[in-house]
Amino acid sequence: MSSSREYKALKGMQDVLPPNSYLWKKTEETAEEIFTAYGYRPIRPPIAETTDLFTRSIGENTDIVEKEMYTFNDKAGRSVTLRPEGTASVVRSYVEHHLYTLPSPQKYYYSGPMFRYERPQSGRLRQFYQIGAEVFGAAYPWMDAEMLSMLRHFLERLHLSDLSIEVNSIGCKQCRPAYKTALLDFFSDKRVQLCVDCKRRYTVNPLRILDCKVAGCTAVRKEAPRVTDHHCCDCESHFERFQATLRNFGITYNVNPEMVRGLDYYTRTIFEITSKDLGAQNAVVAGGRYDDLVKEFGGPDTPAIGFAAGMERIVELLNRSGASALPSPDAFISLLGEQACRKGILIADDLRTKGFWVELGDPEASLKSQMRRADKVSARYVFVIGDKEIDSGNVQWKKLSDASQGLISLSGIYDFLADKAG
Ligand code: ATP
Ligand code: MG
Repeated sequence: MSSSREYKALKGMQDVLPPNSYLWKKTEETAEEIFTAYGYRPIRPPIAETTDLFTRSIGENTDIVEKEMYTFNDKAGRSVTLRPEGTASVVRSYVEHHLYTLPSPQKYYYSGPMFRYERPQSGRLRQFYQIGAEVFGAAYPWMDAEMLSMLRHFLERLHLSDLSIEVNSIGCKQCRPAYKTALLDFFSDKRVQLCVDCKRRYTVNPLRILDCKVAGCTAVRKEAPRVTDHHCCDCESHFERFQATLRNFGITYNVNPEMVRGLDYYTRTIFEITSKDLGAQNAVVAGGRYDDLVKEFGGPDTPAIGFAAGMERIVELLNRSGASALPSPDAFISLLGEQACRKGILIADDLRTKGFWVELGDPEASLKSQMRRADKVSARYVFVIGDKEIDSGNVQWKKLSDASQGLISLSGIYDFLADKAG
């Protein structure tokens, strides 16, 4: 090749580098710890599926399916899509592997990349990560509340505060048709005032008009009928008992009767956790019930509920709160001379196999420059091993943060570090 070309990551896709990558790791580890305590087990579906899995579940007339999917034909001409969200894959997996034969409820969590061809902007990427969870086989409303309690613990464990929980219930197969009709009636003489998208939504998906951010549409829908006034008895009772359980948990929440979700499969309870610190893209977690989807995918009638949390938005909040998860080496071993080098690398290797993070100095560099590096990498303890130490069998330790020091035997470095770490 004669000319060199500068490569860049695709627009809307980002590299996650240290120190940020440590905040990601901390977020994932915290989720795993909390979700495990609630009985969730890990699941890892593939990141690509046949396209119609998503069009059917998410809905033909949603932004995701209409505009945002990464769809391509594979070499055999099959239409394949990079998953825009996780639920469809988990439900497919649940049905395909007959997981419904296991005792209910079944709880799963996942974490991984999702792909949506959106306009990249702050808080909106084309490859973004979600940590999500799904519960199958629990119709009772306290599962909805338990899920929010778990999310609250997860976010609290990350020390994220100032978050609001918004809930709504969008009804079910029984009562939603009548509500849709009420909406159509209401908007029928106001269509001219709606934005282009909502004019189209009026015919294909009127509920989504409630979600439109365009100022004109917000104004027009002020008096629109509320879904909560159109619930059937079962939905009303579910929503009531859900809220009673939230109160029992001591969870503060708002009912937002205008909230709908961008995916068609939701039924009854939906929720969002939002932050005032994130600007326009303020939802950190979103989820809800999807009691009909397992059946639509060919499984038995199985109520289900799930959520997805946006990793980048959580990490953004962690960054704003000044959180740091950057680890530093337990020890730095400076090496002076050939004999010390031979011995020193064995000592380091032994400590590493025992779980300590050990950095080695460059034996060809001066002691001064090795110490400068120890400082730069913020090692906790420094040991200098030279011919003198090999002869005497003793080595000085030095703690960089307070310059304290002392003498220990060369063979006692592990015990020393273990003692300090414990
Ligand atoms: P939004 O209203 O922000 O577009 P959505 O309704 O499309 O959200 P969901 O599909 O419910 O979002 O996804 C759940 C969470 O995943 C969101 O609350 C957000 O934290 C995150 N998320 C969704 N889309 C993106 C994206 N393009 N980039 C980064 N994070 C995203
Ligand atoms: Mg979206």
